[in-house]
Amino acid sequence: MANNSFGESSCTAAASGLVQVRGARENNLKEVDVSIPRNALVVFSGVSGSGKSSLAFGTIYAEAQRRYFESVAPYARRLIDQAGVPDVDAIDGLPPAVALQQQRGSSNARSSVGSVTTLSSLVRMMYSRAGAYPANQPMLYAEDFSPNTPQGACPTCHGLGHVYEVTEAIMVPNPSLSIRERAIASWPPAWQGQNLRDILVSMGYDVDRPWKDLPKKDRDWILFTEETPTVPVYAGFTPAETRAALKRKMEPSYMGTFTGARRYVLHTFANTQSALMRKRVV
Ligand SMILES: [Zn+2]
Repeated sequence: MANNSFGESSCTAAASGLVQVRGARENNLKEVDVSIPRNALVVFSGVSGSGKSSLAFGTIYAEAQRRYFESVAPYARRLIDQAGVPDVDAIDGLPPAVALQQQRGSSNARSSVGSVTTLSSLVRMMYSRAGAYPANQPMLYAEDFSPNTPQGACPTCHGLGHVYEVTEAIMVPNPSLSIRERAIASWPPAWQGQNLRDILVSMGYDVDRPWKDLPKKDRDWILFTEETPTVPVYAGFTPAETRAALKRKMEPSYMGTFTGARRYVLHTFANTQSALMRKRVV
């Protein structure tokens, strides 16, 4: 890629819609002169080591960044990865530039077009500098506009952009069933579900009435509480036997800790690696 791929032009760069690079010497580039059309998809091709990246990243993008940095306040410069000053005689017609590396770390739930392109850094900086603030309001900084900082993140979704809503209708699809009949479909099966039911019995909840006939206060607590009380459990006892055992302070089978249905769903969703499990709790 050592030669001028696009031919000479005598027009000025801006008028001709060209980015004109003259005398590029970054790394192994040898006085490369090149004119690149703007508003077009342009490809640099060449064998490994021929200088494609030195021209694209090391020269053109580096110069665009350098010019941009000159226009921002020193405190804001730390928000962006800085490129060095490229070894080049002149670049004309250069627009603001964004560079995407070929290989990026794996994306995560917080990746967005803005973060991958680093454009969100620039937008945050622009907001923090251009914003007009009501009287008596403190100055806002770029971080205050980031969904990845506590002060900038939306309080509802914590900056993730998604909210997992777990409603009564989802967790209890058939409200004519009792808790013993597994009205709470989102609870775990087998022993763990039975354990949660026995805990409710110890706490005095009626597990044999149809769900829809339980007081709203009870339904809400069972589904939505964040409390995790630990209570004596009498395995295999009926509710009446449990009440009697509690009254006599009988030695319990074990101490059981309650988890609300919503808490269980969100906890399982957040932690499970099993697609099957995820399917079942949602
Ligand atoms: Zn949000």
